[in-house]
Amino acid sequence: MNNKSELVNKYSFDNIRNIYESKVINQIKVAINEFEAFDGCDNCLRDVYALALSRIPATYAITEDHSNFACLPDGEILEVVRYAIYRVMKKPNHKI
Ligand SMILES: [Zn+2]
Repeated sequence: MNNKSELVNKYSFDNIRNIYESKVINQIKVAINEFEAFDGCDNCLRDVYALALSRIPATYAITEDHSNFACLPDGEILEVVRYAIYRVMKKPNHKI
């Protein structure tokens, strides 16, 4: 996000992220090995990422230090990611 039109008073919002973005990526790395039939292509991985994030209430925060935030446990994030992989695997957004 480096678009000048997205600046307000010269400031950007680049460092404000959904705290679950990195957590979902970490759980994808865990879950991906559990699904042998999942092709793991960039298309499907992005779909899994988007689907998983869409199913977790977004929580936006400044900075990388999210330790103060009430947060879903990793196990619950992993369950959401497993569901997303299963869905994308069953119905990939491309020809098989
Ligand atoms: Zn794929």
